[in-house]
Amino acid sequence: MSATDANSFDIVILGGGSGGYACALRAAELGLTVALVEKGKLGGTCLHMGCIPTKALLHAAEVADTAREGEQFGVKTTFESVDMSGVNAYKNGVVERLYKGLQGLVKSKSIELVEGEGRLVAKNTVEVAGRQLVGKNVVLATGSYAKSLPGLDIAGKIMTSEQALFLDHVPARVVVLGGGVIGVEFASVFKSFGSEVTIIEALPRLVAAEDEAISKQLERAFRKRKISFQTGVKFSGATQSGDVVQVSLESGETIEADLLLVAVGRGPVTAGLGYEEAGVTIDRGFVLTNERCQTNVDGIYAVGDIVPGLQLAHRGFGQGIFVAEQIAGLNPPVIDEMGIPRVTYCEPEIASVGYTETQAREKFAEIETYDYNLGGNGKSQILATQGFIKLVRQKDGPVVGVHMIGARIGEQVGEAQLIYNWEALPSDVAQLIHAHPTQNEALGEAHLALAGKPLHAHA
Ligand SMILES: Cc1cc2nc3c(=O)[nH]c(=O)nc-3n(C[C@H](O)[C@H](O)[C@H](O)COP(=O)(O)OP(=O)(O)OC[C@H]3O[C@@H](n4cnc5c(N)ncnc54)[C@H](O)[C@@H]3O)c2cc1C
Repeated sequence: MSATDANSFDIVILGGGSGGYACALRAAELGLTVALVEKGKLGGTCLHMGCIPTKALLHAAEVADTAREGEQFGVKTTFESVDMSGVNAYKNGVVERLYKGLQGLVKSKSIELVEGEGRLVAKNTVEVAGRQLVGKNVVLATGSYAKSLPGLDIAGKIMTSEQALFLDHVPARVVVLGGGVIGVEFASVFKSFGSEVTIIEALPRLVAAEDEAISKQLERAFRKRKISFQTGVKFSGATQSGDVVQVSLESGETIEADLLLVAVGRGPVTAGLGYEEAGVTIDRGFVLTNERCQTNVDGIYAVGDIVPGLQLAHRGFGQGIFVAEQIAGLNPPVIDEMGIPRVTYCEPEIASVGYTETQAREKFAEIETYDYNLGGNGKSQILATQGFIKLVRQKDGPVVGVHMIGARIGEQVGEAQLIYNWEALPSDVAQLIHAHPTQNEALGEAHLALAGKPLHAHA
């Protein structure tokens, strides 16, 4: 039965980002009453400071590269310059249109959007500007913030992605601290826009969460693009004088830059919000949940970036929908974290799902792998891109990992995730006909080869 009092709801959601608003929309669809509390802009990080604006920048970067490389395809083009006011107008336009659409969508449902900063004041109550919203269930979805390193203040020419999204000029020299997803995406944009770029990464390789072969190929591609990087190197400090930043490394080297982008990960937004006082277990700032997104406190759930795991918008959407269905009594199947697709949108793009080769070797008794080189794929040749699709399977069993790299390869992750999540055998995929000439065909060919009947594959 739905609550009726103006301040009582079936669900009170704290945070209107990907996780929170997806939960609100699904809960409303299921006939539950919902209060959605948001202190900033509905849509959260993904829409305003994350996925959407960065992908708009990456598209502008692709256009710049296309202008530069026209000659290669027999088209006489010249690259003049990047006008950041034009780029920002385009990027902001995309965000604004989606924002309007989302606001309209939320308004059209029985969701009460409560604007303001909320705090959990009891296990079933969120307080916003003196108003107490009581929920039969509470969903924590307060997201994440850009971290820095001890002693490294974000100011002036030392920025995180939050400031770097709004630059009014293209900096001549950029140092990117961190070679993870956000770091390599920004490095890719800056290089295409004309900056000289150096990435500093403490781990032994770029995109260290990906399969090792993917990191190697990305490093090769970045070398070719003249994006400098140093891996296994620790940052020791940075100083600013005027408009110049001196970046020091533990190796003793100093690099001068016009912008230092700090991309060292994102921390959970949970401090001072009353979570611990309500008895919710927190570990290093993250809210711990079981596989049904329930915290240790009855009736309190958590979704999105505050829960340990992949910090991805679609994971937040999935968890939000899951929690709404769980509360509505639909008993949804638990989410397999490994089955969540991952895409890094640098040039070349990276897309993966499931286990890396190293993880699979630890998890399964015996595995087999196969690398399909995009050299044999017509569409990839047309696009003049290099890369591969690597499959990992349990010996005589299903495919448990798909790892891809190449221009535009992110679009192929849809089929890859079906293969992983439906536990397909290579022979199941091999019998499906893939359209020619597409990059998708490369996924089909990789499975043909792994099923023992290679077509355009060199041994
Ligand atoms: C530069 C960048 C690029 C990214 N690119 C991608 C990508 O391409 N693909 C992808 O899947 N993911 C990407 N991400 C990650 C993605 O943005 C996050 O995983 C996603 O936004 C997490 O959703 P969330 O709901 O957990 O948190 P958020 O989106 O951070 O939303 C949390 C919301 O809670 C609100 N809030 C916090 N505290 C309170 C409070 N006390 N009261 C009221 N409201 C509060 C905040 O204002 C915010 O709107 C990117 C992130 C960044 C930073």
